[in-house]
Amino acid sequence: MILPKITLKRGKEEALLRFHPWIFSGAIHRIEGNPQEGDIVEVYTAQQQWIAIGYYQIGSISVRILSFKPIEIDEQFWLAKIRNAYNIRVTLGLAQNPENTTYRLVHGEGDNLPGLVIDVYDTTAVVQAHTVAIHNVRHTIASALMQTVKGLENVYYKSEGTLPFKADVTPENTYLVGQETDCIAMEHGLRFHADWLRGQKTGFFVDQRENRLLLEKYAKGRSVLNMFCYTGGFSFYALRGGAQLVHSVDSSAKAIELTNKNVALNFPDETRHEAYAEDAFKFLEQAKDKYDLIILDPPAFAKHKNVLNNALQGYRKLNAKAFDQIKPNGILFTFSCSQVVSKEQFRLAVFSAAAQSGRNVRILHQLTQPADHPINIYHAEGEYLKGLVLHVE
Ligand code: SAH
Repeated sequence: MILPKITLKRGKEEALLRFHPWIFSGAIHRIEGNPQEGDIVEVYTAQQQWIAIGYYQIGSISVRILSFKPIEIDEQFWLAKIRNAYNIRVTLGLAQNPENTTYRLVHGEGDNLPGLVIDVYDTTAVVQAHTVAIHNVRHTIASALMQTVKGLENVYYKSEGTLPFKADVTPENTYLVGQETDCIAMEHGLRFHADWLRGQKTGFFVDQRENRLLLEKYAKGRSVLNMFCYTGGFSFYALRGGAQLVHSVDSSAKAIELTNKNVALNFPDETRHEAYAEDAFKFLEQAKDKYDLIILDPPAFAKHKNVLNNALQGYRKLNAKAFDQIKPNGILFTFSCSQVVSKEQFRLAVFSAAAQSGRNVRILHQLTQPADHPINIYHAEGEYLKGLVLHVE
């Protein structure tokens, strides 16, 4: 089969020679074969040398690369990629582990599968397509998952909110395989309800797994404030770690309901925990010297580069408030999940906040995303989660 052909402008192959998986529209000289959004295309240099195969999309990123070797993108291709990703999760001890039944199985470019995110919750895989090409192969992916993942029973497709607006497809959130189940998944031996139908993203933030475990080690005897708690992940680790009390805060009443449910699941009749549906900034106002372990894990303050400055101000203000309120010798876990905010920029925002408070602050740990959210070394954009653990005197 002859595939549509993309020819680059002179010199524009440079990023591809370093295996960067995106081609921006400005790098393209000519498009032949009339590719539609989502179609597989071959890429050539200005000198007519074959360089990569990928898929076409309308937008500033015009092509996402699937392979730098001339191979066919068929069912075998998707199966091999999913197997490869799964084998890594088995090696990491995240898959096929009775103490841990939730993990990210595919992390987009980090697993050389641009546009695709898959999280596993016990016997269900939740698939998110961010591009039309992935939407087009959703059934192939579902079948590859069923052939690969041990014990998998259901594949839920959740892309209503993730495909580009301009795309001329209307995906329906639906089960591609199996059916609805009441799922209780496990992370480091702690249990939680995974609700991919109603929850944010795929239902749970699996990317904080290792950071929650670290928090557990600091929790003993402390008064813990878990800000932006969502499903309460950090809270139930703090309880297991022996916290004296744990307060969870989220502006969404639904999140508070989930948090209470998850705490009860792990610690029935727990009296050390209280959850509040309130605005984080407001809640912090009345928290002077009440807590000696605070977690700040807000939603991404910047989704685009043009709002970067506002986002940095947001991180500075939020952290300044925490520095003002935390008890002497407190521990602050502070995060940013904005991809456009770099590690350095985030650290600078927290530095400004610390300076403003005048308190003596030490960095104890520098945190990042876990190994099931791998970063393709050729695609630095894949690094999004950063965190600092601070000792505040
Ligand atoms: N820490 C969570 C993930 C946080 S996601 C975990 O470990 O799973 C961000 C959360 O912040 C969402 O649940 C959202 O409802 C909440 N949120 C957004 N704006 C808020 C605000 N101003 N005050 C309190 N919570 C807020």
